[in-house]
Amino acid sequence: MNFIFVPACLGHQTGAHPECPQRLQKFEHLPPSDTAFGLDYVPLVHTAAHIEQVRSACNHERPLDNDTLTSVGSYAAALAGVGASITAADQGDFALIRPPGHHAYPHKSTGFCLFNNIAIAVKHLQRQGKRVMILDFDGHLGDGTSHIFYEDPNVLFCSIHQFPAFPGHGWIDEIGSGPGKGFTVNIPLPPGAGDDLFWQGMELIGHIGHQFQPDVVAVSAGFDGYREDPLLQLQYSLQAFYRCGQWLRENFDRVFAVLEGGYNLSMLPLAIHNFVNGFNSKPPEQSEEPTTTSPLLVQKTLKDLASLKKCLIPYWSLDTA
Ligand SMILES: [Zn+2]
Repeated sequence: MNFIFVPACLGHQTGAHPECPQRLQKFEHLPPSDTAFGLDYVPLVHTAAHIEQVRSACNHERPLDNDTLTSVGSYAAALAGVGASITAADQGDFALIRPPGHHAYPHKSTGFCLFNNIAIAVKHLQRQGKRVMILDFDGHLGDGTSHIFYEDPNVLFCSIHQFPAFPGHGWIDEIGSGPGKGFTVNIPLPPGAGDDLFWQGMELIGHIGHQFQPDVVAVSAGFDGYREDPLLQLQYSLQAFYRCGQWLRENFDRVFAVLEGGYNLSMLPLAIHNFVNGFNSKPPEQSEEPTTTSPLLVQKTLKDLASLKKCLIPYWSLDTA
């Protein structure tokens, strides 16, 4: 797994905002990657009216909502992010991009996200007949992605995230609808959850993922679950991201990843490197002791996970999960 980096992603500059170009500053020395042309792929998910709305808002530096600001370079940055995600999907690489994408809906930009990079890349793979599992380990629910595949039985969407938190949903009973029922798995973790609870959730995801037998695993790799992230109260260590990379390598044949959130500017590069190094079977960039959660929170969350299994038992064999 190599980095796909496009300098145009630094052109999304919206002043004092947590989603800032400094997030990728440590990677600016990377040579620009050859990538697909993003605009060719955006319509796989987004409506023509929405694409035009984003282009026009960026030209005039108009906000798309209260949190989702734009600059003149934002449209090019968002398109570059889409192109990099397509190339990462084709090559099994890590798209080091911004702005993030997993909160974006077909007709709406929200939560710092202009276009839904991962969903576009998954639609691209679906056109090739691939069966795709999405693992979204960003600390927020990928609500845009969830919405896009909510009725699709050929995409397994799994999100592990803080609850309650933005965008306000992602509870255990949201499991898809129509033919897609059972193919959405939400693992909500309470503020204060550490590596131990993260892995409880990931084991369940792995158990279902193996039964789904994806051709490709698409990872929405967000690092705002880190214990010192300013936006959330999850308590993951750097070790969790390293192990997550290892786990994906050990359990699945074909994997690619795109960057979502992660707002601790000094730790984000380490978290990204740890994930990729774990996947590539290299030593961690920086080691940290795994974190543990208070017994009360563990107890409550295990009850929630037991209820989640009850919701999913009609669709998956969970006897040993
Ligand atoms: Zn996030």
